[in-house]
Amino acid sequence: MHLKSTTLIVYNTEVEVRIMKKLILFDIDGTLIHTGGAGTMSMNLAFRELFGVDDAFKNIPMAGKTDMQIMREGLMTHGVPEPDGKLENMINTYLRFLKTEIDNPMRTIKPGIQAVLELLRDMNTPLGLLTGNLEKGARIKLKAFGLNDYFPDGAFGSDHEDRDMLLPIAIEKFSKRGFTFAPEDCVVIGDTPRDVKCAKVHGARCIAVATGPYSKDDLLATDADVVFDSLRDVDRCMEFINRVS
Ligand SMILES: [Mg+2]
Repeated sequence: MHLKSTTLIVYNTEVEVRIMKKLILFDIDGTLIHTGGAGTMSMNLAFRELFGVDDAFKNIPMAGKTDMQIMREGLMTHGVPEPDGKLENMINTYLRFLKTEIDNPMRTIKPGIQAVLELLRDMNTPLGLLTGNLEKGARIKLKAFGLNDYFPDGAFGSDHEDRDMLLPIAIEKFSKRGFTFAPEDCVVIGDTPRDVKCAKVHGARCIAVATGPYSKDDLLATDADVVFDSLRDVDRCMEFINRVS
């Protein structure tokens, strides 16, 4: 009995030390959840209210971009000059619409996500967000799925307009929480080539998942360390994460 107990304690200690050496950073749209179109709809509704243009973002691809980048592209495409607080108006109006649009029956959580998050949390692995969403928008979206509690912090589109600048910001925010991570200790999980790039420019690891607009073949053509159809195969996902040392 005594021997069994001792063995268990040693095992737990080993797992704890290994796991705490890495930070897992999740993208939101197409990776954790599908909002049922609430993001695009809210952008369009905000643009119509402010500038009188219908379906303003119809021809503006959004996947992997930051919200600020998307909004700026919208303003440029429709010839709206940016000064005079137009971007700030757009942000506030977008967030107001998002709060109601997120409540739609088409929204879904992606396969395997709940199980992966619970496993990682049970192992005390620090979890964060690395997303192009404005922080307030990210929290509105995740609240609808009850997912906010998994992610105490992260780097958001409101921290920097360039997604490639977000990984060091996430590391810095977690350092203020007492965690020290190098970029290579981080695993970014995302659904677009932009997620892969924003990890790889810093030497972080990347799991790409084909649960967004990009196919598995599209993602295999990137520098992702591993590509999954989804995180439904929880064991394979955990196996990769556990290999990161
Ligand atoms: Mg995404």
